[in-house]
Amino acid sequence: HKMNDNNKTKEQLITELEELLEENAKLKKVENQFNYIDKLIQDKEERFKSVISSIDDLVFALDKNGIFIDYYQPYDKDDLYLKPKDFLGKSFKDILPKNIIILFEDAIKSAKITEAVQEFDYSLIINDKKMWFNVKISILKNSNGDFDGISAVSRNITRRKSLEEKLKKAAHTDLLTGLYNRRGFYDKFKTEMSRFKRNHKLFSIIMGDIDFFKKINEIYGHECGDYVIKRISAIIKSSLREQDIVGRWGGEEFIILLPETELEGGKISAEKICKKIYSNTFSYKKNNFKATMSFGVSIYNDIMSMEEICNKTDKCLLKAKKTGRNRVVCCK
Ligand code: GH3
Ligand code: MG
Ligand code: MG
Repeated sequence: HKMNDNNKTKEQLITELEELLEENAKLKKVENQFNYIDKLIQDKEERFKSVISSIDDLVFALDKNGIFIDYYQPYDKDDLYLKPKDFLGKSFKDILPKNIIILFEDAIKSAKITEAVQEFDYSLIINDKKMWFNVKISILKNSNGDFDGISAVSRNITRRKSLEEKLKKAAHTDLLTGLYNRRGFYDKFKTEMSRFKRNHKLFSIIMGDIDFFKKINEIYGHECGDYVIKRISAIIKSSLREQDIVGRWGGEEFIILLPETELEGGKISAEKICKKIYSNTFSYKKNNFKATMSFGVSIYNDIMSMEEICNKTDKCLLKAKKTGRNRVVCCK
């Protein structure tokens, strides 16, 4: 048991002092090693941060339960869905919209199985603006190789998306009239066909062709012909409902899809347009003149392809031409 210091001999005290000094030197050495490692970690983190900031992405680290534990952003961005204090410590399941949670869950599941990076696009409303992101999900492992968390690298792709949308719109739109072009109309037709498969609501198709259009070009010039095509497009649009789809089928030919409309309704719409055009006086550079248009109308049934219904409607249109023009002919 311990002796009182006063009872210790001088030699004993010196030995103890020497031992303490030795211990102290050892601790100093350990501390230096710690400092060295700390510096290494700090350097690594600095390097990591500068690498992260050189890419334009937001990097999130989540633990294995999906809780946000860390994030890195290149600079003060205004495209964070929530402030860091509002998502750090919370699960993605508690803060993201439901449809995006499903995408995240699927990606995490796949990443675990395949051990490959999973990515998907999603949109969020941030500051009243719709923003698009692409996210890459990967699985993080600890030193034993066990699943230890998730990394999510998110990139703002709003600009790319809006360019893509503009491009898609341009590819589906007729330049002269702003109506759908053939490709755009075909897209809408396909949508309507699948809607029919679900609810069995019939839709009708109208095809229209301007009468003696070659004459208009010959008499008043090609530019005036273009004007007539634009004016007639506007008349057709103004005669229809919001949900009706109008396309420019070719030069002076138009095609219309009337959702949830029986043959009789299609006929009434076509006759309305026919009368409006007949009653309109076209005015172009001091020339005032009349124009007329002929129409074919048919009803869609589910055994038809788009080509078949167009051929059928075109036959009626031809009949309208042959029987005097400026009229509507319905398919039986
Ligand atoms: P029909 O009553 O039988 O339809 O007679 P039509 O003269 O209209 O005959 P057709 O359909 O054969 O002629 C269409 C003409 O439309 C031929 C073409 O030169 C002209 N055309 C096609 N596209 C355009 C266009 O974008 N602008 C102008 N100005 N003319 C066009
Ligand atoms: Mg024609
Ligand atoms: Mg014509």
